[in-house]
Amino acid sequence: MGPSTALAASGLTRGADGMWVDDAGVVGAVVTAHGTFVGWLDLAWDGAVVARRLRAVEHVTDGACAAAVQRARRERERSLRTCELCAAGGLPGHLH
Ligand SMILES: [Zn+2]
Repeated sequence: MGPSTALAASGLTRGADGMWVDDAGVVGAVVTAHGTFVGWLDLAWDGAVVARRLRAVEHVTDGACAAAVQRARRERERSLRTCELCAAGGLPGHLH
């Protein structure tokens, strides 16, 4: 089983930019020469430019991808905050 098979089996699909993302767009993974890295997707403000960032990144073997995707999903949920202005749930720094 290669990384592509493992990530697809974990519910992720490869986007045009090469990042693997789940259907909800909350968990991402990248395959590099050094291995596969799984984390949850956050947005980072770099001046006026918003970029995707992987948080709580784990270096995983193919066999550990599915469990890492579940952990990343839980890690993201722990980072959600309720907006004091409009009571919407979200991540710090995200527009809503
Ligand atoms: Zn708000």
